[in-house]
Amino acid sequence: DKTEQPTQKVQLAEVLKKYWGYESFHDLQLPAMSAVLENRDSLVVLPTGGGKSLCYQAPAMCQDGMAIVVSPLISLMKDQVDALNANGISAAYINSTLSNAEKWNVSEKIQSNDLKLLYLAPERIGAGRLLDMLTAANVSFIAIDEAHCISQWGHDFRPHYRELKQLRDRFQNVNLHAYTATATQRVRDDIAQQLGLRDPEVLIGNFDRPNLYYRVAKKNNLLNQIQNVIERHPKGAGVVYCISRKEVERVTLQLQGLGYRAASYHAGMSDEDRAANQDAFIKDDIQIIVATVAFGMGIDKPDVRFVIHTGIPKTIENYQQETGRAGRDGLESECHLFFGGNDFRTWKMIMSDQPPAVQKVSLASLQTMLDYCHNINCRHRSLVQHFGQELNKDCETACDVCMGEVEVIKDSLKISQMVISSVYRQQERYGMTYTSRVLKGASDERIIANNHTELSTYGLLQEYPLKGIQDWIGQLVGQGFLYQDESEGFSILKITESGKQLLKGEVTPRLTVPTTTEKKSSGSKAS
Ligand code: ADP
Repeated sequence: DKTEQPTQKVQLAEVLKKYWGYESFHDLQLPAMSAVLENRDSLVVLPTGGGKSLCYQAPAMCQDGMAIVVSPLISLMKDQVDALNANGISAAYINSTLSNAEKWNVSEKIQSNDLKLLYLAPERIGAGRLLDMLTAANVSFIAIDEAHCISQWGHDFRPHYRELKQLRDRFQNVNLHAYTATATQRVRDDIAQQLGLRDPEVLIGNFDRPNLYYRVAKKNNLLNQIQNVIERHPKGAGVVYCISRKEVERVTLQLQGLGYRAASYHAGMSDEDRAANQDAFIKDDIQIIVATVAFGMGIDKPDVRFVIHTGIPKTIENYQQETGRAGRDGLESECHLFFGGNDFRTWKMIMSDQPPAVQKVSLASLQTMLDYCHNINCRHRSLVQHFGQELNKDCETACDVCMGEVEVIKDSLKISQMVISSVYRQQERYGMTYTSRVLKGASDERIIANNHTELSTYGLLQEYPLKGIQDWIGQLVGQGFLYQDESEGFSILKITESGKQLLKGEVTPRLTVPTTTEKKSSGSKAS
């Protein structure tokens, strides 16, 4: 009697409904789950909130044996296991927070085949005895969460992830599945290579968030700029991201001083204070959380209406994740990035204790972030391009560029040609500050000694503020007409191929109206 085998899809849908109460799959969840059931290695890239966990949790319930899940965050591990247990799924975790008795308890469950999912911290893999026990157990498959942690090209490299290589050797016939929200080609390739994935099914989700409105602006009177955003959402929850703890404290006080219900969140606070503030935010007891990057992992508040950055984030990945915390309910939400001032230097200081090789990657990522700020293309397009995707068309209505809020100057081409020909006449041997001072017509000793007062470009932009000239150079770098060569240990401006085309008038750059001219009368000084 051959009753019809339920198809994978039906089986997965049943599991989804039975254990989670969900009626449908999110984008790419079904193919990702199918890869697991078909015993094919996979690399799944879904943006934050895309539902990665279910991609391995659901198939674990359709198979015999126990799935191993490697996850880097101890706190999230406990939350996930608690949630699974609450749904009637037999799951456990092993990490450094467990007492010996608890570890024994889990070991027994492993040995008696009681578990469907076992969460492990990556550093546990190195512990030989555990690995022996797991080799003896019936392992259905291995899921590596936050797989970008294995790559030093990613934004969150964790050396312990390198030990995961052993899994491939130990579990020759068990399939490996990697999950991440970071999808640059380089990181993707690195994950596959480091883990030794075999002909993996590569699934990449859609990174565009059409309901988010992106704006990027230079900082000038930051508090005012923040307040303007909040005032558009008098009742809406919002997150204000700052680079440093000190700035978090300061902005919180400033906002409280203006009567807003705001609280801080950063790694320097006690666990209790942090948890209390996060809780108050989730329950809408406060409107605004002012935070460092420490805030947000695993927080699932659907109705965040705005995310503000008071300085450039460390990487585009960070920016995508942090802004991605807005509008998870699908409703329109705003993301504002205010940049400039000392952002770059502040990050450089924070990164100064990194090993040189790591620091080099960090600085390159920071420069990419800065280029994004200076780039005057559709923001949605620029963001998804970073994640290796293309949009069919610009967003048209959901970013400052498409909405014409970024004022482009009429003389963009002429001014750009002046800048680039100055770089050319200086024989591409000087940096941004020097070049801007030549164009401004400054009588610095160095400029005089180099005889650059005699260049035809000397003083050509003297009517513009020096800061404005520097911004334009930054914009030309951001738009790919110039680049900063760091090979000699300091930044030297060089002209790219499209920069040469620009000199011939074959392509047109877009420079913004300088916003940094200080209005001396206003009397209010930022910071
Ligand atoms: P990620 O790890 O990709 O950031 P999560 O796995 O935390 O995403 O999922 C984000 C949220 O979406 C969670 O609250 C999860 O329960 C929910 N979710 C995931 N898949 C589905 C689905 N198919 N239907 C409804 N909700 C889902």
